[in-house]
Amino acid sequence: MVRSFTTLLGGVAIAATLVGLTSGAQASADKPVIGFSIDDLRLERWTRDRDFFVDAAKKLGATVTVQSADANEERQISQIENMISRGVDAIVIVPFNGKVLGNVINEAKQAGIKVVAYDRLILDSDIDAYITFDNERVGEMQAQGVLDAKPSGNYFMMGGSPTDNNSKFLREGQMKVLQPAIDAGKVKIVGAQWVPEWSATTALQIMEDALTANKNMIDGVVASNDAEAGGVVQALTAQGLAGKTAVSGQDADLAAIQRVKAGTQTVTVYKPLKSIASTAAEIAVDLVKGKTPAFTTELDNGKKKVPTTLLTPTLITKTNWDTVVKDGFYTQAQIDGK
Ligand code: BGC
Repeated sequence: MVRSFTTLLGGVAIAATLVGLTSGAQASADKPVIGFSIDDLRLERWTRDRDFFVDAAKKLGATVTVQSADANEERQISQIENMISRGVDAIVIVPFNGKVLGNVINEAKQAGIKVVAYDRLILDSDIDAYITFDNERVGEMQAQGVLDAKPSGNYFMMGGSPTDNNSKFLREGQMKVLQPAIDAGKVKIVGAQWVPEWSATTALQIMEDALTANKNMIDGVVASNDAEAGGVVQALTAQGLAGKTAVSGQDADLAAIQRVKAGTQTVTVYKPLKSIASTAAEIAVDLVKGKTPAFTTELDNGKKKVPTTLLTPTLITKTNWDTVVKDGFYTQAQIDGK
């Protein structure tokens, strides 16, 4: 295996050709080696993304190495650097912090590696592609679900992680739906917070404080994912408000489907992870093979218009929670806790 690259040594650009530097990567476009750098495998959804992705990539003749940064941006950067020095053909990234990967992505691109942002956009960077569910649409569904249950009253906005670009898209979608009700004087936002690392424990504490500050008078909580919804429902349960205050989420986590079925969480948003994982694997492999994948749109990441594929999410309520069983996402026994 021969690989050429240019490096800067003492301010002088020198071209070097390295032979046998890497361990089997860039061996051939028929057997691409893909690095999958995931923010945090401690969260339920990402383990499923990983499994679906590895499966789909294998079927396309690729091999995958997976690393979890455990919500640590320095760790993620060094794991990506490691993938670059191992000479992978493509790196697929779920960023912990979408704002800090520009340099390491430049290194990857200089080494001829294709880079795909997975689920979360990576800002100010030369990525080749982005695949996600339409996050603004997810935000709209979350707010609409809460609004349908509580057309008026006090609302609390439980935002996503401040380092995750999706949090911004979600809030845009949520506010698009809520603004007319706010302008009409029906809905009053009594508080809004971002939740570092999307932590359920932090969401629980924020909710306890919000309930105290508002003398328990909170009618709707637009929570941005199911982990947060779990914390919110725990705080509501302690005040006898579970099932009374409307709560949203996303991901169709198993516990969230059980809460929706039981009526303590109003809605979640189902994002078929097999679709995003298999489409991402196809995109990565196509890019390595020099083919142009089909994209649905483009999104500006501050540096370039990134070829993007937006997948469609589905709203889950008490009346259609069995969609996740019909779709094979869970078995009925799992939902029944058996
Ligand atoms: C994803 C959500 C997920 C959250 C926390 C977001 O970027 O879109 O599906 O719940 O991160 O991991």
